[in-house]
Amino acid sequence: MSERKRILTGDRPTGKLHLGHYVGSLQKRVELQEKYDTILIIADLHMLTTKPNREAIEQITENARGMVLDYLAAGIDPEKVSIYLQSAIPEVYELNLIFEMLVTVNRLNRVPSLKDMARAANISDEEMPLGLLGYPVLQAADILLPRAHLVPVGKDNESHVEVTREIARRFNHLYGEVFPVPDCLVGDVPTLVGTDGQAKMSKSIGNCIYLSDDEAAVNKKVKSMYTDPNRVSADVPGTVEGNPVFIYHDAFNPDKAEVEDFKQRYREGKVGDVDVKQSLAKAINNLLAPMRERYAHYAADTGFVDQVILDGTETMRSYARETMQEVRKAMGFAGSWNRLRRSAEKRAKKQG
Ligand code: ATP
Ligand code: MG
Repeated sequence: MSERKRILTGDRPTGKLHLGHYVGSLQKRVELQEKYDTILIIADLHMLTTKPNREAIEQITENARGMVLDYLAAGIDPEKVSIYLQSAIPEVYELNLIFEMLVTVNRLNRVPSLKDMARAANISDEEMPLGLLGYPVLQAADILLPRAHLVPVGKDNESHVEVTREIARRFNHLYGEVFPVPDCLVGDVPTLVGTDGQAKMSKSIGNCIYLSDDEAAVNKKVKSMYTDPNRVSADVPGTVEGNPVFIYHDAFNPDKAEVEDFKQRYREGKVGDVDVKQSLAKAINNLLAPMRERYAHYAADTGFVDQVILDGTETMRSYARETMQEVRKAMGFAGSWNRLRRSAEKRAKKQG
């Protein structure tokens, strides 16, 4: 195993990545890829927790390609980072089952995001799939399979990593030290609001600016962004706190002096929403411009991202095999199997 500490994180292949994914987690992955041995998961099994239908499964390939292009566009270096397809690692199903024995249903019922996910997917309490309740358990298997130390995720995922920590401790206590207890790292903006002012930018709500949006799309979305609804004209003093336009300025405009100036004039009723939004659109386009270039560069090389995923999956397979050997040894499974095999061999020998 390498000297460097390891990161594991990723996303469900449900579509394009947006600015929320970027500030919640992706930005940190890019920053830390030199310092940590970084593994990114395309969590297609997690997608099944709310979308087990065939159409969703058929879209995995295309969505995975798009997601990996978004990663590379955002600055993930394919030479340094392993990106793998979760469903192609048999060991994760195995470790998930073992971990299911180490957590209670009550504990999982207290994970707040699972209810939110069920609601977003129109799943009632009665229809709650066992797999959705077990979402954080499967995530624990993802994180602990390569024995990761750090998990950069958005705020809604923090409670899942807490479950991972508890499972790691419980396993180590029962069977001996196999797993590190990983830390959670929440991004610079723990939960990015949507362009419509709703608490979370989310595909299912449709309030997103995508990393792959072109300049015109960004301009249009920013222009119609939710802002202080009480401000009917530019000379009315406006509210900056909690205003999505200013939350985005803080997140995406590197010119802090300009942002402070806008805030002051906004509060005094001395600047129009149009000016503030135009400057925001420019800042977001400046952030996305190099991403669009890298996206086009990698997308032009047909088969490249597919190769990246195949290579990453091979790397992950070797980590997974190694860890499961340790797990079986620690739990004593290897012992019972060997005893059975030895006695059967003895019998075979006796019979000649
Ligand atoms: P969407 O609702 O748009 O499909 P998601 O929450 O389903 O997004 P996931 O694949 O579950 O996306 O999560 C990927 C990562 O991105 C997680 O770490 C999650 O916390 C983070 N994330 C997603 N949306 C946001 C957001 N609006 N702000 C901050 N982080 C986010
Ligand atoms: Mg998603």
